[in-house]
Amino acid sequence: MHSKRILLHMCCAPCEIYPLKKLRSMNWEVEGFFYNPNIYPHTEYALRKKYVMDYSNRVNCDIYFCEGYHDEEFNNAIKNNLDKPERCMNCWYLRLNKAAEHAKMIKVDTFSTTLLVSPYQDKQAIKLLGEKAAAEHGVNFFYYDFSVGYQEAVKISKIEQLYRQKYCGCKYSLAESSAVKVKGI
Ligand code: SF4
Repeated sequence: MHSKRILLHMCCAPCEIYPLKKLRSMNWEVEGFFYNPNIYPHTEYALRKKYVMDYSNRVNCDIYFCEGYHDEEFNNAIKNNLDKPERCMNCWYLRLNKAAEHAKMIKVDTFSTTLLVSPYQDKQAIKLLGEKAAAEHGVNFFYYDFSVGYQEAVKISKIEQLYRQKYCGCKYSLAESSAVKVKGI
């Protein structure tokens, strides 16, 4: 059976592990896509990007990296509401929309995202936003509850010595995670 191409938006290396494995087991030919201007500061962005690059090389997955660090695109996308969940919805849509646009450009008719791995993210909201971005660009969004592989991915990321971040990505989530630590929660 011929495999079909799918573009997988990747947020970080640990979250790449399970979706890549699962999609390949379903006979998808996976190509990666890295666009995450939400990640702050730039040193953190560079670190996550490096590990996605290294791990993708290790598992033989081609990946497209958007050039530059476009934090202004993230700041612009979320500027009207910095509170959750609106901030996260706009952040997800920014990245999903870019992935859908790229899929269309390279003539891949389906895309998905590693954002669906995290048990801490709102998967139904991500599904709706993925479908909205797909409709916008005339492609399909592939939904799967990749969070069933979250624990397995944590174990593999330790074995593979991948960098595992302590916060979601943006400066607000960094401040929120620091506040939790200070309060000792
Ligand atoms: S907390 Fe995470 S999903 Fe929400 S805006 Fe920040 S980086 Fe994006």
